[in-house]
Amino acid sequence: MITQRFYFKKHFLFVFLLFSVLMSAQKKFTIVLDAGHGGSDHGTNRTYSSVGYLAEKDITLAVTLLVGKMLEKDKDFKVIYTRKTDVYPSLTDRTNLANRSKADLFVSIHVNGVKNTSAYGTETFVQGPDQNKTNLEVAKAENDVIYLDEKDKENFSSYDPNSPESLIALKVQQSKYLESSLLLGSFVEENFVKKDKRLSRGVKQQNLHVLRLNAMPSVLIEMGFVSNPDEALYISSSKGQNEIAESIYNAIISYKKARDRNYAEKEKEKEPEKPVEKPLSNDFRILLMSSPNKYNDGDTALKGLNYILTIKENGQYKYYYGTTNMASIRDNNLKTAKDAGFKNATAIGFTPNQTLSNGYYTLELAATKDKLSSNSYILQNLKDVKREKEKGVFYYTYGTFKDLESAVKTMKLLEDKGIKNIVIQKVLK
Ligand SMILES: [Zn+2]
Repeated sequence: MITQRFYFKKHFLFVFLLFSVLMSAQKKFTIVLDAGHGGSDHGTNRTYSSVGYLAEKDITLAVTLLVGKMLEKDKDFKVIYTRKTDVYPSLTDRTNLANRSKADLFVSIHVNGVKNTSAYGTETFVQGPDQNKTNLEVAKAENDVIYLDEKDKENFSSYDPNSPESLIALKVQQSKYLESSLLLGSFVEENFVKKDKRLSRGVKQQNLHVLRLNAMPSVLIEMGFVSNPDEALYISSSKGQNEIAESIYNAIISYKKARDRNYAEKEKEKEPEKPVEKPLSNDFRILLMSSPNKYNDGDTALKGLNYILTIKENGQYKYYYGTTNMASIRDNNLKTAKDAGFKNATAIGFTPNQTLSNGYYTLELAATKDKLSSNSYILQNLKDVKREKEKGVFYYTYGTFKDLESAVKTMKLLEDKGIKNIVIQKVLK
């Protein structure tokens, strides 16, 4: 019955696991694509005689729509846009949309712009503590957007990015998504470098409002500098925008693969719920050897094993190691005995509290060629000790017990009194 139950449980577990794998496979990977800025918020911008006015909000929208189109071809993805036209959703709107959709990933796409026209390259930000001044400037530039919007002002009024309390709270909230965000960020930057031969300024941690309240891994990609004339041409060209979109798309695919792999491994780790071991109906002791000789604790014949129970039967001393009613411990004890050098050791089952119908147990306290003196420790401390002489040896025994457990119990009491090397003797009539 135990065996049947065990298999039923195992079978049930397998079906359950299969079911959950199918369920998780069915659930789409929801990604929020956020084209930075929009509407009255142009973001960073420059005018070049060759191409005219270039605004961050237009470049980010073009690239975002390209990434979305690629992802929408894959039925595993559900794509949500914070905007698909030239409008300005507040940062709160963007975050709320992502949180309400229970998105798996948030990708915000931006364009860099600085006074220095020589700066160029890509960088990807993840939510994190401030690391250096340059990052802080980027944060300020992106966070300035907030003051365009009345609703945001209310929502963020209590938030002071310079207070240590705010920073600690942020760290705790975001640390669980940080690792995943860093992974996606590294894929994005790697693709920019390897596929598009761009300069990567790295994956950086920064405290950015658009990422701060997201309850999911999130990144903010700065795809290049509109302030650098060469890069401005690249990020506004169809070729450049397609390459950038493809790099972001590939990174998202790599990220999802890594996440799915990680998820599957975690499920696997959960699987081996070992059934709780049930005790056996018998007690098991490991029979090390039988011998006409009596060996005391510490004798080399016992090969360093402790917790030996000696039971004498028909003039033979049987040496037992360990007592347990758990199969795993029994097997472990047997291994210990064999490892110690008792190659023929075997596990012997004992029915607990079994009374002897044709005999009794007694405790052999001493076996000696010389009579114990009347002021010996044993005879001084115990009454009713029996003495018998057989083949020139005096045997001193104590008590009669109907079952082994009672004998062991009294033996332990005597051991506590300082009487060592007691043998339990089985006397059959
Ligand atoms: Zn921006």
